[in-house]
Amino acid sequence: MAIQEKIKTTETQVAEKYVEKVLEKIKQRSPHEPEFHQAAEEALHSLVPVLAKKTEYMEHGILERLVEPERVISFQVPWTDDHGKVQVNRGFRVQFNSAIGPYKGGIRFHPSVNSSIVKFLGFEQIFKNSLTGQPIGGGKGGSDFDPKGKSDQEIMRFVQSFMTELSKHIGPDIDVPAGDIGVGPREIGYMFGQYKKLRGAYEAGVLTGKGPGYGGSLARTEATGYGTVYFVEEMLKTKALSFARKTVVVSGSGNVSIFAMEKAIQLGAKVVACSDSDGYIYDENGLNLETVKRLKIDRNERIKQYMDEHPNAYYFDNCHNIWSIPCDIALPCATQNELDAKAAAVLVSNGVAAVGEGANMPSTLDAIEVFRNNDVLFAPAKAANAGGVAVSALEMAQNSARLSWSFEEVDARLYEIMVNIHENSVKAAEDFGHPGNLVIGANIAGFIRVADAMVMQGV
Ligand code: GLU
Repeated sequence: MAIQEKIKTTETQVAEKYVEKVLEKIKQRSPHEPEFHQAAEEALHSLVPVLAKKTEYMEHGILERLVEPERVISFQVPWTDDHGKVQVNRGFRVQFNSAIGPYKGGIRFHPSVNSSIVKFLGFEQIFKNSLTGQPIGGGKGGSDFDPKGKSDQEIMRFVQSFMTELSKHIGPDIDVPAGDIGVGPREIGYMFGQYKKLRGAYEAGVLTGKGPGYGGSLARTEATGYGTVYFVEEMLKTKALSFARKTVVVSGSGNVSIFAMEKAIQLGAKVVACSDSDGYIYDENGLNLETVKRLKIDRNERIKQYMDEHPNAYYFDNCHNIWSIPCDIALPCATQNELDAKAAAVLVSNGVAAVGEGANMPSTLDAIEVFRNNDVLFAPAKAANAGGVAVSALEMAQNSARLSWSFEEVDARLYEIMVNIHENSVKAAEDFGHPGNLVIGANIAGFIRVADAMVMQGV
């Protein structure tokens, strides 16, 4: 027994060293990519127990291959604004890993987009997509273009220029982009129109998140938010808890946030706050979701306008302070690193029971540590927000079969997928010695499927 223990320790030590070596190499190769380092650090440290058990992964150089994108495309996006002036933005597509399917992942338009952001997102997508159980690899793209304040015509011209280059690198069996921050049905529509013109063919499965009238899947818009709540519901069940009568705070007011709020309300919760990048609204009696939807989806206005119709609510012009509101369940659905250790400590001192990440990497590593040390149920992004890309894969399946499923059918499949992701993450955490730790469980469950495929396919 003593000898076995010792061998185990040695294997763990070897695995830890391997992980450190790979992380060091990343920093050496790409020193100016802090978000990518953060994502890699979180994931790779989680993998130590599996690397210690399955030493063949080290021999096959799986981690070295996993952290180096198979292909990175960076390109110029010139377009003409409404004053006739030429503007130039930078476009990216990172094709990270294709072990289990064509590259799959969204496109983000936001001034913060750079190679670090696209790489962290693409890296996370490998694990997330694997967790869905669907045949999709990991990729991500975007541009530092800021859609805020642009006219519809400017958006169209920008998107057409973006797609003119991107079209050379994508296809239904190659790489299938979708939306993310700043890219919704309108942008996807313009992308699809341009791709179709350039190809001279109707390849419906080249993009997901399309309008339901031309090959889009019903329930795709709702999928990420609904999926996050389905996942958190499963996690709550493990402690005999539920959404019923719970107070919920949801950051953001985009697609993910709005439909997370909708599902939480359907399950009996009271959602008291949501935000945009300017500030947050708070109503202790529960927000009116119809107003939020009208403002953000139909009219593209600021969340502050909520006060015009609901003068008894409160508006605060610092979106980061949203986490100071006491709640039972917190759902960060805005953006990366929106919830730091300080905010986590405030949530804990206010008695938060569960946190579910609807955005990508919204909690810092320190914040996750605070939740773990205080026994807060924590649903990591890769697992909890996988519902969006899962339904994207269902959209691809419908496109291939040239048919479309009902909302109920897609929603039922989404629910089943989220329940499975939760179950597989719980099981992997237990099997590898970290019961209850869904960060480790999700990373391991997502990783094994990809790693095994990589081993089987050779280098
Ligand atoms: N952007 C979403 C994500 O972060 C969806 C990607 C997709 O549907 O391909 O997972």
